[in-house]
Amino acid sequence: MAEQFDVVVIGAGPAGYHAAIRAAQLGLKTACIDAALGKDGKPALGGTCLRVGCIPSKALLDSSRQYWNMGHIFGDHGISFKDAKMDVEKMVGRKDAIVKQFTGGIAQLFKANKVAAYYGFGQLQAGNVVKVKQHDGTEVELKGTNVIIAAGSDSIELPFAKFDGETIVDNVGALDFTEVPGRLAVIGAGVIGLELGSVWKRLGAEVTILEALPEFLAAADAEVAKVAAREFKKQGLDIKLGAKVSKTDVTGKGKKKEVVVTYTDGEGEKTLTVDKLLVAVGRRAATKGLLADGTGVQVNERGQIVVDEHCHTGVDGVWAVGDCVRGPMLAHKGFEEGIAVAELIAGLPGHVNFDTIPWVIYTEPELAWVGKTEAQLKAEGIPYKAGSFPFAANGRAVAMIEPAGFVKVLAHAETDRVLGMHLVGANVSELVHEGVLTMEFSGSADDLARICHAHPSLSEVIHDAAMAVSKRAIHKAN
Ligand SMILES: Cc1cc2nc3c(=O)[nH]c(=O)nc-3n(C[C@H](O)[C@H](O)[C@H](O)COP(=O)(O)OP(=O)(O)OC[C@H]3O[C@@H](n4cnc5c(N)ncnc54)[C@H](O)[C@@H]3O)c2cc1C
Repeated sequence: MAEQFDVVVIGAGPAGYHAAIRAAQLGLKTACIDAALGKDGKPALGGTCLRVGCIPSKALLDSSRQYWNMGHIFGDHGISFKDAKMDVEKMVGRKDAIVKQFTGGIAQLFKANKVAAYYGFGQLQAGNVVKVKQHDGTEVELKGTNVIIAAGSDSIELPFAKFDGETIVDNVGALDFTEVPGRLAVIGAGVIGLELGSVWKRLGAEVTILEALPEFLAAADAEVAKVAAREFKKQGLDIKLGAKVSKTDVTGKGKKKEVVVTYTDGEGEKTLTVDKLLVAVGRRAATKGLLADGTGVQVNERGQIVVDEHCHTGVDGVWAVGDCVRGPMLAHKGFEEGIAVAELIAGLPGHVNFDTIPWVIYTEPELAWVGKTEAQLKAEGIPYKAGSFPFAANGRAVAMIEPAGFVKVLAHAETDRVLGMHLVGANVSELVHEGVLTMEFSGSADDLARICHAHPSLSEVIHDAAMAVSKRAIHKAN
């Protein structure tokens, strides 16, 4: 007999654990199933984000940035030292400890909120029953008045560059190199490729990023992408655009293993020989084996579970959230969907505003944006005004030796309502939320310009950019 729950969640990543905890907070009897194991072979909750995504990548970005700053910025502060060394094993160990702390934290939160955790692979059957193959070999069946699918995503593998976990890797392998590769190639100049490419570049690897598209970071504002490309080039990241990889050959043995990467660009076919290859060409919804016959849940051609704007699958009581459905593959998008669905199930007005989801790339400088780009506004025929301001004219940024980048505020030409904010520079992963808040409250550029910002602070760049929208920035010629 299947055990009965109000809510059964498949997947304890950002989308799933938020859904489960919020449902339990609302008094619903909730179970959450997750199949993942940590590096120690024990169950690890938290999904891609906590195990092999957001958090471990930020841990390595921070370690590598400290190391890079020693060689590139400390001297300007008058700090000198002898023989800086990076202990890669220690760096990765620190990252692993953080992962353990946070994945363990989710297990504790489940306990505290009385979410029943099941460790194993869940498959949805017809009639809202989830069959769980547990790691100990036993099988249990859980029946949910509601089932929330939060199965997440997996790395896309290229047929000519199969992951071997050692020489050709995805994010999982690139977060665990045991030494700095001499030469690293990355296929894909997206968020993951740029962030992990930056980590190993800062530690001394020669990094080449091969991107098939002719345009760099097409999703970002064009001026933001241009500044980022210039700064990455200065750091020595070799980004080749319009470079289509067609073949890889692993040669040699043991420490002498190499990968010969064949790609074609505007000049014809070329090869690149490297020690490690990171394939970062995107992620695909993890729906393999998830649905038994007859559930009625639809999967589209991209493998995503089909849902409406409320994350409902169209099958009574079955919902899906996070990376396994349409929309940006971002942890915080999954958080919001998970919470919204739990609230809808409890009869509350759960809602996600897709127009104010922030995007961040945690490189140096960081990139962040919310809302529409100038290109989108032009394409949609929306009249707008733009105001921008450089970090180079901000006292705090210059004092920090972080002068690169700028903030751009886009506002409707007639109503002045903020339609987008685009940032590249220091700490913009934090600053972007000023744009998110303004947009969420339907604020105007004038509202932002009239809000007192502490001096000296990086956030003053937003203030000046908002003032520049109406050509009244104080610290630059308008
Ligand atoms: C290197 C890297 C860096 C990233 N950095 C960021 C970042 O800085 N910010 C950001 O917003 N996003 C980032 N992301 C993306 C982010 O990790 C994902 O958007 C997020 O984890 C998606 O959450 P989710 O809950 O939908 O799925 P997932 O996190 O993928 O979790 C799904 C969980 O479900 C489990 N599961 C799947 N199928 C089953 C099944 N049938 N039965 C039982 N369990 C199952 C999986 O084991 C997994 O634990 C990054 C991703 C990567 C790879």
